[in-house]
Amino acid sequence: MDVVTFGETMVLFTPESTGLMRYANNYTRKFGGAESNYAIGLTRLGHKAGWISRVGDDELGKAMLSFIRGEAVDVSRVKIDNTAPTGLYFKELRSSTEIRVEYYRKGSAASQMNKADLDEDYISKAMYLHISGITPALSESCYEMVTKAIKIAKQHAVKVIFDPNLRKKLWSEEKARKVLLEIASYADIILPGYDEGVFMYGEKDPNKLGELFLQQGPSIVVLKVGAKGAYYFTKEESKLVPGFTVNNVVDPVGAGDGFAAGFTSGLLKGFSIEKAVQRGNAVGALVTMVSGDVEGLPEEHEVERFINSPTEDVS
Ligand code: ATP
Repeated sequence: MDVVTFGETMVLFTPESTGLMRYANNYTRKFGGAESNYAIGLTRLGHKAGWISRVGDDELGKAMLSFIRGEAVDVSRVKIDNTAPTGLYFKELRSSTEIRVEYYRKGSAASQMNKADLDEDYISKAMYLHISGITPALSESCYEMVTKAIKIAKQHAVKVIFDPNLRKKLWSEEKARKVLLEIASYADIILPGYDEGVFMYGEKDPNKLGELFLQQGPSIVVLKVGAKGAYYFTKEESKLVPGFTVNNVVDPVGAGDGFAAGFTSGLLKGFSIEKAVQRGNAVGALVTMVSGDVEGLPEEHEVERFINSPTEDVS
């Protein structure tokens, strides 16, 4: 594997109408999970990605597994758990611009993951281990799994990429801040969104945030600033790499996961950090043009064409 990641993916129901959830009768079924989105982003770009998780021993869990497997992600380490169901979530389109989510994930199969689900040999052969800040929020055993995964990565010189992916619905702000900072201190590369940086340090200046993250431990910090693109910071240099202009944002959700996949892809290809961030910006921008978290993730030829000619029709 080039990259191994682990986390919970849920069945996502998106209503076909706007308004309160109680009136929504027709839904489209999709699957959503930051870590599997990221893994799919990488396979689309031609890399080998493995996703470790648990799904329930139920029809929706099996559908999810088929879907992710069908996207060429290695699911050989996913367990089917007959003690708990696959997690679900519903979107509520309160208006065309306000989206709320309702989770049905407490006690889900994925929240039962624990450190025994980690295959040391599998992780040790990867170039990168990707960790998201969602997993430690799921349960105590998931938190322990994250800690163990970092330990395995360190023992085998596998680089840790950390995406804080703050989910305030899952834990208290105090606990979230403490754990995210703790994981950041073990990461080689960290990919926070600007708001996550503000949350973690209470600092609003992007350059100061970059400094604070570097002091925490990672040698590469990439701070995402939405449509404006992303800053990167290393001990030697820092720069804002401008984003691509998208005139028709359809669905911004998943842009961060796409960015992470594009950036990691650049590193795997041996690009400079600046060029890897540019690739991340391009994948993030392409994701916003399409409804759904993974539907807009590009293949290699599309991302190259978009970078060279961003205004050309990509369809
Ligand atoms: P998510 O909501 O998926 O968690 P995030 O907060 O982690 O996202 P964002 O900064 O929103 O991250 O987006 C990630 C990247 O995607 C940005 O750095 C940028 O490159 C690209 N991107 C996001 N939104 C836009 C946009 N409206 N136009 C162009 N590029 C965008």
